[in-house]
Amino acid sequence: MKACEMDDAAAVADERRPALVYPFEATPEIGAGQAVEVAPGVLWLRMPLGFSLKFINVWALQDGAGWTVVDTGIQTRETADAWRAAFAGALQGRPVTRVICTHMHPDHVGMAGWIVRKFSARLWMTRLEYITCRMLAADTGREAPEDGVRFYRAAGWSEDALETYKARFGGFGKGLYPLPDSYRRLNDGEEINIGGRTWRVVVGCGHSPEHACLYCPELKLLISGDQVLPKISSNVSLFPTEPDADPLTDWLRSLAKVKAETPDDVLVLPAHNDPFRGLHARLDHLIRGHEKSLLRLEKLLGQSPRRAVDVFGALFARPIGPDLLGMATGESLAHLNCLLGRGRATRETDADGVVWWRLAA
Ligand SMILES: [Zn+2]
Ligand SMILES: [Zn+2]
Repeated sequence: MKACEMDDAAAVADERRPALVYPFEATPEIGAGQAVEVAPGVLWLRMPLGFSLKFINVWALQDGAGWTVVDTGIQTRETADAWRAAFAGALQGRPVTRVICTHMHPDHVGMAGWIVRKFSARLWMTRLEYITCRMLAADTGREAPEDGVRFYRAAGWSEDALETYKARFGGFGKGLYPLPDSYRRLNDGEEINIGGRTWRVVVGCGHSPEHACLYCPELKLLISGDQVLPKISSNVSLFPTEPDADPLTDWLRSLAKVKAETPDDVLVLPAHNDPFRGLHARLDHLIRGHEKSLLRLEKLLGQSPRRAVDVFGALFARPIGPDLLGMATGESLAHLNCLLGRGRATRETDADGVVWWRLAA
């Protein structure tokens, strides 16, 4: 299982990072059942992750006699133990009455099926996240599709890399407990009541199809999931299922939408790293970062035609090994399709099925 994000440190030329404020000195110990109360009735817990990201933040919101939990951690025995410690510890033996998942990635949705079954609770998610998650989980056990092999061959992958893709195909479903067979849909702009307080759903896309953030005006809190992270660039990738998509344009629009719909004075509760203040500066910085990447990419294409695997240097500071190849390819293609959509690049497929990208004349 790979992280769905890349450290900003890996991004090229991440200069002039805005000064964000991290108001909490104490952090909850990972997986130990402890919590830090970040606002009245809002608990911050951390669940262990077994890859380059060490933990994911999850949130427990007091909700009548029980708890609404937001995000759940990846499906492992360690996470189950961490939740058991939390139920007996910070959650004081009170039941979970509702599970909300910001989006479908296994580090967020992994334990949702387990928790809702344990407490007979409901799962709340946006429709595209729920349906896409079930679709991807159903790939487990299937053979890698020809469309996928063609997609990565077109990007310039070697036969070795294609073999690895085939062998690993279907890994998504292993990171999560099966979702419940029904759910409660979350809608963009909807206001939901949690423990007597109003939380507004703010949907973004690009990192995942219909990612939900939750904004509480009364508490001045934004649970941002992976839509806004303080130190990490969320992965924005093209996938074989929809090779002509333009997720980067979706992502840039979503960052602007979050800025328009959420005031700057919120405390941001992100899924990775620590709670922070400085939402608008961070959003502006993320948008600028992608625009700079696009400019570097244009420059590279202006030198000579390139395949997707030839442009990593314009987007990532560190060398891309086999473990990061899929993510780097998806992210490169997302940037290339964005340039295509803007009329700044063209593409051509050669006799071997490999796509070559050029700067538009
Ligand atoms: Zn994610
Ligand atoms: Zn995540």
